[in-house]
Amino acid sequence: DSDKRRSVDADAIKVAVRLRPLLEREKEVRGSQEAWRAVPHAAQVVRVNNTAAASSNSASSAFHFDVVFGKDAINQSVFDSIGRPIAQAAVAGFNGTVLAYGQTSSGKTHTMWGAEEDPGLTRRAVSEVFAGISSMQDREFLLRVSYVEIYNENIRDLLSGRGNSGGQSLRVQEDSDGRVTVVDVHEEVVTTAEQVFGLLLAGESRRMVGATDMNERSSRSHTVFTLTIESRQRVGDQDDAAGDADEHVDVTAGTAIRTATLTLVDLAGSERQRDAKSEGQRLKEGGYINKSLLTLGTVINKLADGAGGHIPYRDSKLTRILQNALGGNSRTAVVCAITPAAVHAEESLSTLKFASRAK
Ligand code: ADP
Ligand code: MG
Repeated sequence: DSDKRRSVDADAIKVAVRLRPLLEREKEVRGSQEAWRAVPHAAQVVRVNNTAAASSNSASSAFHFDVVFGKDAINQSVFDSIGRPIAQAAVAGFNGTVLAYGQTSSGKTHTMWGAEEDPGLTRRAVSEVFAGISSMQDREFLLRVSYVEIYNENIRDLLSGRGNSGGQSLRVQEDSDGRVTVVDVHEEVVTTAEQVFGLLLAGESRRMVGATDMNERSSRSHTVFTLTIESRQRVGDQDDAAGDADEHVDVTAGTAIRTATLTLVDLAGSERQRDAKSEGQRLKEGGYINKSLLTLGTVINKLADGAGGHIPYRDSKLTRILQNALGGNSRTAVVCAITPAAVHAEESLSTLKFASRAK
């Protein structure tokens, strides 16, 4: 079954760490030295120690991951290494998920959405999927997207605006085949990559409605973008290449429909809400964020070691709606973003620990 398959598939979960350059504003502050350095060829991140005494000890502060991107890495390289295989597998019928984890300002959105001149993983993955399906002339495809935000354990539909602060959270439901879905989430059928980018931008602007500060909001909520890819053999073609992709026979048409999802997640900032002034709403938000990220870590850790047993998807809305995206035959990559800035050394250490635990 799918759990056994996962345990023999060493590639099921990949953990990447991306260390961005110091920002201009970080260079201006005192103590702007770099506390962390990437060693991409060794797939390591090491603590930088400026004192001779401490550096003899540096081996003990090296962290090792599947892949490490340093400050010179562009989004194109990140995509080539971890995004493309997942996007291609999704076209072939395997669920794929990429999550960006890290403290606010560490580079999550830069990694997922990117800049004009260097688009991020989301745009590249969507383009890759459309290129992939146009090269598979023997199959016909139906693609749909959904885009939701999880804020304070409430699910809001960024394509329709439903479930916003005044309204009720969208509900999550599990059907008889164990498939977890967001009830009545808006799914838009798409035929081009540009159409998807337009929906994402419209969704992003809905996110800001009612938010006093857009940065605050984006650092305190998770966004989950899902591209559902359905396909079937064109009539007259026969091919068994599907392997163990999720396939079932559509009795009416007599052909197997293959369904896969590509799920791309920009997580809330992982920083601890340790501000002494945190109270009321802020404290509540902090609690929800910590809980969902902690649960995510536990779920990924349990999936990665493949030992089976109880996986606590239900402990947070985030893991609940990612249940299908992470379990079963999915390919998952977690990109953990850190800043080298010494002022955030401890927060980066906590991200590296999360990343190590995900392995
Ligand atoms: P987050 O989404 O984690 O809060 P952002 O992606 O918004 O962080 O990044 C914070 C700032 O750092 C932005 O100005 C962004 O352009 C810049 N930045 C992030 N990663 C990189 C990178 N790899 N190279 C250059 N600039 C980066
Ligand atoms: Mg962001």
